[in-house]
Amino acid sequence: MPKKFYITTPVYYVNDAPHIGHTYTTVAADVLARWHRSIGEETFFLTGTDEHGAKIEEKARGLKLEPKKYADEIAEKFKEAWRQLNISNDNFLRTTDPAHIKAVEKALQSMYDKGDVYLGKYQGLYCRGCEQYKNERDLADGLCPDHKVAPEKMSEECYNFKLSKYQDELLKLIKKDKLKILPLNRKNEIVSFFETEGLEDVSFSRKNVGWGIPIPWDKSHTVYVWADAFLNYLTGLGWDGTTPLTRGAGGLDFWPPTVQLMSKDILRVHATIWPAMLLSLDLPLPQAIFVHGYFQINGQKMSKSLGNVIAPGDLIKKYGVDASRYLIMSAAVFGHDGDIGWGKFDEKYNADLANGLGNLVARASSLIGKNRLELRLKIDSDKKLIKKYKELMEDYKFNEALKLLWRKLKESDETLSETKPWKLEDKREIKNIIEPVAQNILNVVNLLKPFMPSVSEKIIQQFTAKKIVKGEALFPRI
Ligand SMILES: [Zn+2]
Repeated sequence: MPKKFYITTPVYYVNDAPHIGHTYTTVAADVLARWHRSIGEETFFLTGTDEHGAKIEEKARGLKLEPKKYADEIAEKFKEAWRQLNISNDNFLRTTDPAHIKAVEKALQSMYDKGDVYLGKYQGLYCRGCEQYKNERDLADGLCPDHKVAPEKMSEECYNFKLSKYQDELLKLIKKDKLKILPLNRKNEIVSFFETEGLEDVSFSRKNVGWGIPIPWDKSHTVYVWADAFLNYLTGLGWDGTTPLTRGAGGLDFWPPTVQLMSKDILRVHATIWPAMLLSLDLPLPQAIFVHGYFQINGQKMSKSLGNVIAPGDLIKKYGVDASRYLIMSAAVFGHDGDIGWGKFDEKYNADLANGLGNLVARASSLIGKNRLELRLKIDSDKKLIKKYKELMEDYKFNEALKLLWRKLKESDETLSETKPWKLEDKREIKNIIEPVAQNILNVVNLLKPFMPSVSEKIIQQFTAKKIVKGEALFPRI
């Protein structure tokens, strides 16, 4: 039986069109999915959109659209962006899909029947931007640090989820890495949150939000957006909301997720409410959560008001698909914050792609073509390189994996610069130099496939063809 690999991105909230933050998570998930497929694992890669809630209702009203119509438009933008970026997701789940809605109703009903959801009252400070009640200590000078507005005092009848009931069990599971939180500093952060603040019951329904899934036993409430959204990780595999999970039904063999990727702002809910829901539903927890950092744009927070938002379409237009994927994945240590900007992207594009990979491929193929050399090349011949690469990929060290590959390319570059085979006459001598160079290129691009699928495939075809000739420039200089 092949190993199974199930990877998810969050469902992205449709209050905004896709930007580089969503793109980072999604390309990283795609790199992992492609890599796990390439080593023979049965892989399922899920992404999608989160479409309910007061904020979406408000936004749609502002545009004089039905919420569903508005959500349709934004969901399409996400789908289009991922198509353009060559994202290989196996499903795209929308939380307005009828099957998802039915499953959420069933799941909530079974949590209610179990006594884990009860009618209560909630009082608190509510930030509309976050769609979350805020603790006093989360505020900065009384304002939501993300939205810079004072949250409103609200009190309402709601159904609460007994999150507190699962505190001890969850903390144990997280400490023992049964639910692994990566990188380690994020795990420590969560453990300390459990130990110092603890888990309080959370509101699982809203009375004044029409744009949501009705609570099945009390239609005057709708399901709180988080509770609705989390279940996508199950419904995206075809789960119908009934527990215990019946295996063998479609994609459910993939449960639980091997790893769930996300940015740090949604870690806390993913390390508390989400796994507690699974415990309540008697379902296995995800094996791991991996949290990546944020990108700043030239030292500043990315924001619409600063006009510095980078959309995936802008990147593709300037650099092309594969180069965009490379630039994003090499921009920061995965798991840490990074700083990007057009100037930095241009520089890296020219150095690593135009002058680096592109130039080396052109020099080597042109020499081989001109001298009509017949080479015997093999894919996968550098076992040492494969081993090192594999270790880095398993540790989510994407930028280091890329650096490793670029060091290998540099070796070949230096070989050519030192030996200057274009000045030689003797074909045998030229071949002795160029054959290992071509072999090295082939080894590298084969491992580069998860990051740059099209360009890698193109180079592999070029170097495994009967007659190797110089092709078009892969990365025209900017
Ligand atoms: Zn806020």
